Amino acid sequence: MKNKIRNLLVLFNDQIAFPIKQNENFDKKQDYILFIEPAEFFFKSNHHKKKLVFILSSFRNYAEGLKKENYNILYEKIEDNVQRDTINIICDKYLKEYHIEKLTFIEPSDYDLEQNIKKIKHEKEILIDNSFYCNKLEFKKWAEAQKNILMENFYRYLRKKHNILIENNKTTGGKWNFDSMNRESINKKTMIKKQNLYFLENNFIKKIIKVVDTFFKDNIGNTSNYNFGYTKKDAKLRINYFFKNHLKEFGKFQDAMVEENEYINHSIISMYLNNGLLKPKDVIDSSIDFAKKNQDIPLNSLEGFIRQILGWREFIRGIYWLKMPNYKESNFFSFNKKIPGFYWDYKTNMNCIKQSVKNTIDNSYAHHIQRLMILGNFALLAHIDPKEVQDWFLCVYADAYEWVEMPNVIGMALFADGGVFSTKPYIASGNYINKMSNYCQNCIYNQKTKIEEDSCPFNYLYWNFLIKNQKELKNNPRLFFPYNNLAKMKEIDLIKIQKNSTKFLEEIS
Ligand code: FAD
Ligand code: SF4
Repeated sequence: MKNKIRNLLVLFNDQIAFPIKQNENFDKKQDYILFIEPAEFFFKSNHHKKKLVFILSSFRNYAEGLKKENYNILYEKIEDNVQRDTINIICDKYLKEYHIEKLTFIEPSDYDLEQNIKKIKHEKEILIDNSFYCNKLEFKKWAEAQKNILMENFYRYLRKKHNILIENNKTTGGKWNFDSMNRESINKKTMIKKQNLYFLENNFIKKIIKVVDTFFKDNIGNTSNYNFGYTKKDAKLRINYFFKNHLKEFGKFQDAMVEENEYINHSIISMYLNNGLLKPKDVIDSSIDFAKKNQDIPLNSLEGFIRQILGWREFIRGIYWLKMPNYKESNFFSFNKKIPGFYWDYKTNMNCIKQSVKNTIDNSYAHHIQRLMILGNFALLAHIDPKEVQDWFLCVYADAYEWVEMPNVIGMALFADGGVFSTKPYIASGNYINKMSNYCQNCIYNQKTKIEEDSCPFNYLYWNFLIKNQKELKNNPRLFFPYNNLAKMKEIDLIKIQKNSTKFLEEIS
């Protein structure tokens, strides 16, 4: 006689936010929860070891907590899945072992995983993931009604709908967006307080580190100096630490990069939001509460922070589901170069790249401007195959899941989708990097020149990119000025730029 299960709720590693306790259809006595660490996620990429420790520790600790509260728990650990069985095979195993009336899933964050769930031929229900402000269908409807799919318009739509930073039907402070105040560069006198909140390794974390170091020993990164939290309480500590110490200047230095300070004033919460230890609504509500109680929090910081979560995060998810499955194949410029080795070992003389990759490999974290304007920008200027870039971004960051990594890489950093939501490629020369960071001060390249032997590679690659991709970009009105400047350059300089670029790109390939 098989054991009977009325309802088997299947949870994946990034679904910690699902409110089991509030769910009326889930009966603690007769229903079961099956925790699955899915092969579809764990073997999709050569995930950073710290990322794996974070994900496994959060998920396993969550299951342990529910077990202590007498929930019926079944658990499929990744290290036991030696055959790399997909979700279908794992569910089949349970269907054979138990008499299961119904399987319940929460819609997964990953397209391939969703396809596999749809193939399961058993009575099943797939619940909407309500941890976001906007569900997939609502985004689709919104997008279909737009002439151009722009984040700013979507953000305003959600601000109005959820009454966020709206007072008496007007925007708080009289504007939707204070971004122009959020681009302050650093100078020698700028002092940015270092972030100082670390979660110490305990025996539980040590055990998980052992699993990762054994079963994922060839993955990128290492597990030393591990310092992510793994409980909802840790995640709350992290966000409160940010509010108290860094929200005030979050806006001002949002786009800045500093060699001795890899986190600046960023919140470092993306990994907690993406696996469900934090919920976006709780974070936004508590940021508003905090600013009400602390009048020294400037509106540009508060609004800027909220726009990242309510605007960008929700928008990016909407784009993923709107455009998959073809989106991952996007390659507007038909680039086919391999990602250079220094994206893994930071052996390069370009100090900006070295610092950004070092942060990444050491901490499984880099902030947005390092990702976009250094690592993404370089990959675009160097004509790297978008698939290679996607693979790299998916594996190195603790917050990386395909739904959020892919549109950021394809759409924002590489313009590989030809402009689904960006109006022009985010390309920049060494001037921008020098303005926003102190990297150039310690670099052997000359940031000021573009045609000399020691010129900054970002400079000649920038112009080379515009020359080589004129067919695709020349008529873009937002690139009028760079193309106008290009037209004024001397023929001899254009030749040197291309020569420098060809030599450099050959050397790094
Ligand atoms: P903060 O700067 O403090 O911002 C607060 C929060 O806003 C973040 O935690 C994040 O949840 C949200 N947010 C801000 N910008 C974005 C954005 N563009 N897309 C989605 N959410 C955003 N973010 C991921 O969560 N996972 C990824 O895999 C990822 N890949 C990226 C790849 C590229 C090429 C680029 C340009 C950006 C990527 N981002 C990704 C977005 C962003 O860089 C990170 O969310 C951010 O750096 C996380 O650090 P933080 O928590 O300190 O962010
Ligand atoms: Fe980067 Fe160029 Fe500055 Fe060196 S000089 S840090 S390569 S931008």
